[in-house]
Amino acid sequence: MALNRAMIFLGPPGAGKGTQANRAAKRYGVPHLSTGDMLREAVAQGTELGRSAKPLMERGELVPDNIVMGMVEERLARPDSAQGFIFDGFPRTVPQAEQLDKILARRGFGKPLVVEFHVSPETLLHRVSGRWTCSVGGETYNIYERPPKVPGICDVDGGKLIQRSDDSPDIVRERLAAYDRKTKPLADYYRQHGVLETVDGSKGVEEVSRELNEIFARAAGRDGHL
Ligand SMILES: [Zn+2]
Repeated sequence: MALNRAMIFLGPPGAGKGTQANRAAKRYGVPHLSTGDMLREAVAQGTELGRSAKPLMERGELVPDNIVMGMVEERLARPDSAQGFIFDGFPRTVPQAEQLDKILARRGFGKPLVVEFHVSPETLLHRVSGRWTCSVGGETYNIYERPPKVPGICDVDGGKLIQRSDDSPDIVRERLAAYDRKTKPLADYYRQHGVLETVDGSKGVEEVSRELNEIFARAAGRDGHL
């Protein structure tokens, strides 16, 4: 089943959109694109973009558009993006959305299908503050919802679990505030374009997956492909 479209999952960190983007990407055989992953890759590799972004990321601030849009345009030019892709948490602002629309048009895609994940601030802080990452293999755990068998130790490879610097509670709060300030108008932008759907990200993973599959099916019915 070909996706042949640009999908965008919106929502604050911890809303479950990453998990769902990962599942949907596997289901349709398209890349799951997160600017966070692209940036961390650039920081780890020490590229010019990565060196510019690193201090901003450590302070939990948003990275400027010239860096982000440059990475996005390069990424969408790769062959694996030709049949569609799923953006996880991008765009974050209306100007980014406008620029993305132009990039999509240049690459022969129509309007994106946008899904907004709704979830309460209390749920978000609880989820994100419980997240620990394996220092060896990168596996993620949640001490409330999906704890490791031995506290502080990865089930898979015995690696020490750490909290990423951008998952600390202060940075989470700052990130949520930045999210509220800058990205809520996005929903209005996409609603005006008639492409916005919403799901309740407080529900369980399987239930949200089912809702998403219904949304995809409705969209496919509307424009004759998925
Ligand atoms: Zn591990």
